[in-house]
Amino acid sequence: MTIVPAMFCPRCNKPSSDTGKCPTCGTRLKTLESAKRRGWAAFGAGVFLVVFVSAVGIWVDRLMAGQTAPGATVFIGRLNVVFVLIVLCGALGMFNGWQQAHWGRTNRAIAFGILVVFAVALFLAYTASKALQ
Ligand SMILES: [Zn+2]
Repeated sequence: MTIVPAMFCPRCNKPSSDTGKCPTCGTRLKTLESAKRRGWAAFGAGVFLVVFVSAVGIWVDRLMAGQTAPGATVFIGRLNVVFVLIVLCGALGMFNGWQQAHWGRTNRAIAFGILVVFAVALFLAYTASKALQ
């Protein structure tokens, strides 16, 4: 008979068969169920981000299609990169959330990657807005 770990340590990022506190780091354990629920929430947020940003991206592209203002082409070019990067964030978030929803674990490398990609996207969005002026 195997013991099914019902608890999860958010700091060690692994399931535990202990109750109460983590035997490794002493952090209060959360139920594996709540970790999985957060995984589904992250997955849903990722799906939303991908769908929403894709829609906004297509909408903005159509809106700007006839624009001949100086800098508009550069602006749209950079903005498209921003949209692609944010969609990538959403896709990575979906993947990470999916994993967490099934095993409770989050992938720290991916979580860090999402932050980096998002920071790059914000920076590009900032430079894109400057191209319009
Ligand atoms: Zn721990």
